[in-house]
Amino acid sequence: MTAELLDQLVDKALRREAPTREEALSVLSETVELLDVVAAGSRVRRKFFGRRVKLNTIVNMKSGLCPEDCGYCSQRLGSASEVLKYSWITPGKAAEVADHAVRAGAKRVCLVASGRGPGERDIRRIEDTIAAIKVDNPQVEVCVCLGLLTDGQAERLAAAGAHAYSHNLNTSEARYADICSTHTFGDRVDTLRRATAAGLSPCSGAIFGMGESDTDIVDLAVALRELDPDSVPVNFLIPFEGTPLGHRWELTPDRCLRILALFRFYFPDVEVRLAGGREIHLRTLQPLALHLANSMFLGDYLTSEGQPGADDRVMIADAGFTIEGVHESTLPAARHDLVAIRRRGAGTDLPANA
Ligand code: SF4
Repeated sequence: MTAELLDQLVDKALRREAPTREEALSVLSETVELLDVVAAGSRVRRKFFGRRVKLNTIVNMKSGLCPEDCGYCSQRLGSASEVLKYSWITPGKAAEVADHAVRAGAKRVCLVASGRGPGERDIRRIEDTIAAIKVDNPQVEVCVCLGLLTDGQAERLAAAGAHAYSHNLNTSEARYADICSTHTFGDRVDTLRRATAAGLSPCSGAIFGMGESDTDIVDLAVALRELDPDSVPVNFLIPFEGTPLGHRWELTPDRCLRILALFRFYFPDVEVRLAGGREIHLRTLQPLALHLANSMFLGDYLTSEGQPGADDRVMIADAGFTIEGVHESTLPAARHDLVAIRRRGAGTDLPANA
């Protein structure tokens, strides 16, 4: 029965069909053997991404002092976490940090700033920063993550050469008010739609380990799939002391791997990225996650330190994977077969589709 269920999930994923809610819940349930789940997810991962791992790096442009109150965040309003707090770094400094990461294998640089959303000066700072990064690294993908966007801002970022915009949905709509009171799930969806409409590659993911149920996880996966993101970062809560969720240590490596497998089934040909918290929650099982995720962050996170980059590169090689080169395309070309050229209706002898 289990083998049948997993085979069915793989077959659907290879056809880019989403699991049913029941199938999705089975992946999270410990009644199905973990290694069987990972093996099934890895078949999908290999079909669309081979053994490549895309590396991404974060540049925290402005740290701490945020007026929003996201409960998981060490930079939130009233945070007592002793994280670095600073205002905007210069475009030159950001370009230097980005160049270091690119030389270490990063294909994407994510420019992130704390805050509700950018003002005019912030957009200009990011325009200048993208220009500075592109001087030495014209090929690098620049992703921008500045919070909620207003009219015209996504278009400005796209015109400045940004490749993607990142804005996580984080948790299910039903639970959103439990983790944040200063903006809504709908606000986040709105910003993602603005970014997509402006031609930016949409990046949106989640944070797990915040008290969500299996149903919340499935609801979130469904909501994200509706937004058709190109990349989906999967974070596991880093419980910072001094934040409302600082006491939550509820994840196990088993739970994290099941969540990653589930996301691979929901996003078979989309970049699923192993993100914050992988070191502390997956621990010695990190290499198994590479069989599900095709992408990961290299280096440090916004306010906490990540595993040394050299260790990540060894882990990738030891697990039999290779770092994706700048000239390899991340999203599979096979996605193009979703475009069906019309050969019926007007201009043909066949009846129209109606
Ligand atoms: S997640 Fe972003 S918006 Fe929320 S508190 Fe942290 S920096 Fe502010």
